[in-house]
Amino acid sequence: MEVLSQGRAAVYEEPIGPAGVRIRERPRTDPKPGTVAVAIKAASINHLDLWLAHGAQRVTPPRVIAADGAGIVHASADPSWKAGDEVVIFPTLCCWECEWCRAGENVKCASFGVLGEHSDGTACELIHIDARNVFRKPKTLSWEEAAAFPLTFLTAWRMLTTRARLRAGETVLVVGAGAGVAVAAISIARHLGARVLATSRSEEKRKRALELGADAAFDSSAFSKGVRGATKDGVDVVFEHVGPATLDESLRSLAMGGRIVTCGSTSGVKAEITMPRLFFRQADLLGSTMGNASEFEAVLRAIDDGLRPVVDTVYPLDRVQDALTRVDNTEQFGKVVLSVSDA
Ligand SMILES: [Zn+2]
Repeated sequence: MEVLSQGRAAVYEEPIGPAGVRIRERPRTDPKPGTVAVAIKAASINHLDLWLAHGAQRVTPPRVIAADGAGIVHASADPSWKAGDEVVIFPTLCCWECEWCRAGENVKCASFGVLGEHSDGTACELIHIDARNVFRKPKTLSWEEAAAFPLTFLTAWRMLTTRARLRAGETVLVVGAGAGVAVAAISIARHLGARVLATSRSEEKRKRALELGADAAFDSSAFSKGVRGATKDGVDVVFEHVGPATLDESLRSLAMGGRIVTCGSTSGVKAEITMPRLFFRQADLLGSTMGNASEFEAVLRAIDDGLRPVVDTVYPLDRVQDALTRVDNTEQFGKVVLSVSDA
């Protein structure tokens, strides 16, 4: 079902970076059968929005940005929700009907996509979306926090649990701590009872990673030496999203039988691998993107058990360009949130 972003919205119009995303007014309509109209209270920025703004995603503008949103049901054309319900939005797009979707594997659907990339997104006053993309808002979270967790926690949860099979007592190395997905990974790994090591170029972010529960944090250059010194024989899991700039050091950090799991490559799309490091160490190199509805439900349960996202800063929707610039300059630790409506 088509996603419709309505009212005031942050619209990607030109591939010139944050300046190409502008506030526009979108017409308002009534929700079609099977969809829910959610009045967005808060949305949040992901690196994906920068790929879009810089013209790297082959998305034809105009497009309303952002995958993450939380708000109040304004009108519902589906029996599962009613006006006034407090909800968060599941950011994976899929058909819900094919064999993969019926098997619960939404990420493998031929119509797989990400909200705000393959459809209009959540940086708007009102979003009409398939009722199956709407979930209850965790009671323990503020609106800003509820908009901060969906994409990064869903992605990091699938990477660490379903893909890398992280167990309590194992050690995980999170590279590029500071990025939303990496901060989510630190919190989730701690929640699962794993020991966490982290890397960052920024001393401030290394400090923040330690405060969030990492045992040790290393500078991004040649971090494998420090990692191997802090472990018996390297780490069980490396959480990757940086790519070529860190992949070799990530491989060097792995223990025998370790797993590298990656959801991104912000430092470039092609990486070189020293093959013997992969096969002599019996290592697994695992790809992952987004997550399934069942994994989103698992994240919601973990939040009920105390897991929390980290909000870096909150900007009003009108200052979306400043919000995007902060992420573009990788100044953030955790999530940059857009406050959409106080009403
Ligand atoms: Zn499908």
